[in-house]
Amino acid sequence: MKNKDEAVVVFSGGQDSTTCLLLAMEKYKKVYAVSFDYNQRHSGELACAKEICAKYNVEHTILDMGLLNQLAPNSLTRMDITVDEDAPDKGTPNSFVDGRNMVFLTFAAIYAKQKNITDIITGVSQSDFSGYPDCRDIFIKSLNTTLNLAMDYEFDIITPLMWIDKEETWALADRMGGFDVVRNMTLTCYNGIRGDGCGNCPACKLRKKGLDAYLKNKKK
Ligand code: ZN
Repeated sequence: MKNKDEAVVVFSGGQDSTTCLLLAMEKYKKVYAVSFDYNQRHSGELACAKEICAKYNVEHTILDMGLLNQLAPNSLTRMDITVDEDAPDKGTPNSFVDGRNMVFLTFAAIYAKQKNITDIITGVSQSDFSGYPDCRDIFIKSLNTTLNLAMDYEFDIITPLMWIDKEETWALADRMGGFDVVRNMTLTCYNGIRGDGCGNCPACKLRKKGLDAYLKNKKK
C-alpha cells in the first residue's frame, strides 16, 4: 500500500520551500522536512530551516552534502566569488550549483523510500526562471522517471510552484496564514540577510518585486 498520508519536503528555509511546507502541512497528515548542508556561504539558511520546522513541529533532517562544495564551488558557497548581479546572456549564472537539485532530490527520494513515502515536494519554479536548468519542469519529470527506474518505486515529485510567479507564491503563503512567517523567518537573500534581505541581490530583487505586486494588488 502506498503511503499517501505522508510527504517529504525538500526544505531550504527560503520563501519557496517554506510555502511548499505550508501547502504540504495542509494536505498531508505528517510532513518530513529534509535540508542539506553543503557548506553554503550562509549557514543562516539552515538556522532558518530549523526554526521554521520547530515552530510548526515538523520533523527535520539535515543531510551532509559537503562534497557538493568540494566538487562545484560557486558564488553561493565561496566567500571569494561574488554573486552575478544579472543573469549572463549565455550559460548559467555563477550562483548556479551544478547538479544541486538532482543530488538533493535523489537523496530526498532515498530518504522517502526508507519511510515508504512516495510524495516528494520541491519549490522549484520555471516561471521566475533565473537560468537554473534544474528548476525546469522537463528536468523534474525526467528525474522522476529516472528515480522510479533506479529504485523500482513510484515516486511522485510534486512542484506546486512550477508555473506560478513570486506574486502568486506570496498569495499562497498568505492564504495559508503563513505570510508573516515567510516574510520574517525565511532567508532568500544571497547576502545571507533574513526576511526582506539586502534588497540588492538578484534573489532579493525577485522576492521584493513579487511582494510589492502582491501587496499592491491585494489592496485593490
Ligand atoms: Zn539580498
